[in-house]
Amino acid sequence: MRYVCIHAHFYQPPRENPWLGEVEVEEGAYPYHDWNERITEECYAPNTSSPLLDEEGRIKDLVNNYARISFDFGPTLLSWLERREREVYLAILEADKESRERFSGHGSALAHPYSHSILPLDNRRDKCTQILWGVRDFQKRFGRKPEGMWLPETAVDLETLDLLARMGIKFTILAPHQAARVRPLGEKKWMDVSGGRVDVTMPYLCRLPSGRSLSLFFYHGGVAFDVAFGGLLHSGEQLAKRLLGIFSSRPEPQLAHIATDGETYGHHHKFGDMALAYCLRYLERGGAKLTVYGEYLEKHPPTHEVQIFENTSWSCAHGVERWRRDCGCRFGYRPNWHQKWREPLREALNWLRDTLATLYEREAKKWLADPWRARNEYVEVVLDRSGEAVE
Ligand SMILES: [Zn+2]
Ligand SMILES: [Zn+2]
Repeated sequence: MRYVCIHAHFYQPPRENPWLGEVEVEEGAYPYHDWNERITEECYAPNTSSPLLDEEGRIKDLVNNYARISFDFGPTLLSWLERREREVYLAILEADKESRERFSGHGSALAHPYSHSILPLDNRRDKCTQILWGVRDFQKRFGRKPEGMWLPETAVDLETLDLLARMGIKFTILAPHQAARVRPLGEKKWMDVSGGRVDVTMPYLCRLPSGRSLSLFFYHGGVAFDVAFGGLLHSGEQLAKRLLGIFSSRPEPQLAHIATDGETYGHHHKFGDMALAYCLRYLERGGAKLTVYGEYLEKHPPTHEVQIFENTSWSCAHGVERWRRDCGCRFGYRPNWHQKWREPLREALNWLRDTLATLYEREAKKWLADPWRARNEYVEVVLDRSGEAVE
């Protein structure tokens, strides 16, 4: 049996003015008020009811793409959508419900840490809060426990994976070059798959030092790249054919899957939502069965295990250096441009974090039995500022 899953990661940084709680005018987003509004108009909204065209180019249906793909939204973006684009927000929640019927009880939504923190660069305590807040936020919105969690920039280390497993998360998705070696379960000899050579058509079990484990999916790098940067979204049929081309002659069940930024579908590529809708319908008509990661895992659990390269991510060839050093990763070329400021900035923020942590611990202990547990639980107030929750 051959399966296809398309994952889209949706995120915008919180643009709210911290004093006003609202997003101010952003000139660059003209004619829209701000980037959130513009990207909603170009991407988040169209994907809730994307026109599906027939061969003559007539609209024959409007489809909610979110119900047929796998997706995650950063919680801070969802909270903006909830307040400002309620219809879109509700259509996203509805899509998760609909997908559960389609995919044997497994929803298409994945959780996301509360912020877009590069988790391997966080200390354990902050990782913990990020993941826990992400899980609680998800439960409150989608009304169910998350099965999977997206990691910002797919930045990963074993401590992060262990915390995911501890909080009941079953899987995450990584880039192919993050896999180091694999072996069939029960066998001794490892096989080197570095350089993105991992077979992406199956999930892998990742055993963690604590004794816990988690499943990992590695998306197809080439097709994902062409969707994001190579113009593959000019044709939904082309996209479908490329996805079908991922399968090998292996007789066992296989999963062809890709992961990209969700904004690719409509914001980065105009009408990308329509290409996606067409591609999904094309696949549904034959060639492969659409699925989501949770469903695939239940039906076809890992037969192999994997070890990863820690402190790596999908977007920086230097691991996670992009977020702490002058690693050279950049968009475009500008002479004399460098990022030497990154290291001192990161160090200053870490210093501030540690200094404030000591202060917080000392002062908060006067009122709280466990200040860090209190921080973890504080998400209930963030999610519901009504009198009852606050008390
Ligand atoms: Zn992101
Ligand atoms: Zn880099």
